[in-house]
Amino acid sequence: MKKFKTESQRVLDLMINSIYTHKEIFIRELLSNCSDAIDKLYYKSLTGGISGLNREDFAIDITLDKENRILKIADNGIGMNAEELENNLGVIARSGSLNFKKENEPNEDVNIIGQFGVGFYSAFMVAKKVEVLSKAYGSEEANLWVSEGTAGYEIEKAEKDGHGTVVTVYLKDDSEEEKYGKYVEEYEIRELVKKYSDYIRYPIRMEVTRYRTEDGKEEEYKETETLNSMVPLWKKNKKEVTKEEYDRFYKDTFYDSEEPLLTIHASAEGAVEYKALLFIPAHPQYNYYTKNYEKGLRLYTNGVLITDLCKDLLPDYFSFVKGLVDSELTLNISRETVQYDRQLKLIAQNIEKKIKSELTNLLENDREKYEKFFTAFGLQLKYGIYDNWGANKDKLQDLVLFRSLKKDKFVTLGEYVAEMPENQKYIYYSTGASVESIKALPQCEKVTEEGFDVLCMTDSIDEFAVRFMFNYKEKEFRSVASEDIGIDDSVEESAEDKEVTDFLKEALDGKVGKVKLSSRLKTHPVCLTSEGELTIEMEKVINSMPNAPKDKIKAEKVLEINASHPVFETVKKLYAEDKDRLKMLAEVLYDQALLIEGVPVENPTRLADLVC
Ligand code: ADP
Repeated sequence: MKKFKTESQRVLDLMINSIYTHKEIFIRELLSNCSDAIDKLYYKSLTGGISGLNREDFAIDITLDKENRILKIADNGIGMNAEELENNLGVIARSGSLNFKKENEPNEDVNIIGQFGVGFYSAFMVAKKVEVLSKAYGSEEANLWVSEGTAGYEIEKAEKDGHGTVVTVYLKDDSEEEKYGKYVEEYEIRELVKKYSDYIRYPIRMEVTRYRTEDGKEEEYKETETLNSMVPLWKKNKKEVTKEEYDRFYKDTFYDSEEPLLTIHASAEGAVEYKALLFIPAHPQYNYYTKNYEKGLRLYTNGVLITDLCKDLLPDYFSFVKGLVDSELTLNISRETVQYDRQLKLIAQNIEKKIKSELTNLLENDREKYEKFFTAFGLQLKYGIYDNWGANKDKLQDLVLFRSLKKDKFVTLGEYVAEMPENQKYIYYSTGASVESIKALPQCEKVTEEGFDVLCMTDSIDEFAVRFMFNYKEKEFRSVASEDIGIDDSVEESAEDKEVTDFLKEALDGKVGKVKLSSRLKTHPVCLTSEGELTIEMEKVINSMPNAPKDKIKAEKVLEINASHPVFETVKKLYAEDKDRLKMLAEVLYDQALLIEGVPVENPTRLADLVC
């Protein structure tokens, strides 16, 4: 007896002791393995020069043995040799799911099963024993894999006609809560196949019992019935597919427990022909914003699965889209040829346009839903603007939203610009942790007093995205923390004032490039602004990046002092009477301004001491 690998062991335990209410999904998992195995062989027959295989001969057969509570699922696909049985069934394929479970919901099996395809092991939710008899295509030898669960598994030589795999499920005994016996009932299996596996493109057949009356006597006879319609959902007419069917397909195929936010069923004819079924999830997948996430669409050509995740079909900024494309790509030429590439590119362009237009449509017609979408994936769109030095900004700038300080709700750039008063020169924005904290920023006072709105940038990517857009509808973006905000806020500095501000600059010993008086501040004593390209927020973000430059990047900071604040009176008084004390005050004022900006002060202990 061989032991399962530790990880597999844990998944197995989970399956055996599952309280999951949808145990029935094991049927779907086993059938899709059959379908995959046939796909693999069929693909080989199309490309690898195998002859003598006909598409019509491929099938999946279900046999029920009610008396002995045994369910058999057989396919004539590619099969597995001993080594493959060992490698594929001794180790769980998707180990990532386990890590996820460990971190997130240690006591919850519902989600792991809902979110990930658990595959073959799900059979153990209903089985006390599972046998897999398999013969690899082109091999003479068959092998039998047997497991009764936790203890482990055995593999031995066996006999089998023809290539393919037979999975035999010995059902558990019925209990109070669960009647496993239903999985050998014809009507139950028929329903489940219809529900979960209808679109599988090979016939799923079952021998069923029928009755007929002959000479007044009712008699029983057997007949083979094909249970699935074999038409994939995406090949059906849009009008014939219900929302429930789309939703279920999405949830089952992409392992999401929530319905998609948006479903796009598209087909194109002409230069490239394809059918696409695309979904925008309602929330980011658990690893979406990490480098482990892989984008892509499932690619079929002429109904044959070519790859599970074709990256080239989605631009990075739409990487959240899930779905598939079934195209009429010419398969007789190799995958690497230019022709294939060109067609794929055309399809990708088409799909990108389609996604964009559907999103625009959503934005215009269902704002609430769009905002839900944006909350989930807006960050990705903003990365998209920033990526490649703004190469895609024109495609994306009308899809991004920012919170308006004035309205405290999301606005598009178009909406912001449309409401700009004539005397407003720039599109103002401010960075900060939240709308609330931005509202409290001294730098915003002057701008809002003028009646101008401010876009709140609360994600660290925001300001970088804005930098790459540079302007929108010929209006330049401008941070409210720039020294020049296009509103005259300078204060005529007298010669004495100048002496004082120069002294403060000296006292700050290179920390700021300038100290000046301003009228920008209404009620607050000080604030920091910056001259030039680099803002204080950008300095903060860049320096906190893992690959930050060794010599920290520095924005050209300007310390602005409110000329009509009592603190300036004190400054002047100290300048005349106690310069040492003023040096200390300068430090306090500077640190205060940093804190307001959300930038950590260099030496908090010293600040605390100085304040005391
Ligand atoms: P997944 O299907 O997601 O890879 P499974 O646990 O369902 O995970 O299956 C593991 C592997 O076992 C599959 O990837 C496949 O290589 C192999 N396998 C399972 N069922 C069959 C089958 N009926 N025929 C051939 N290979 C199979």
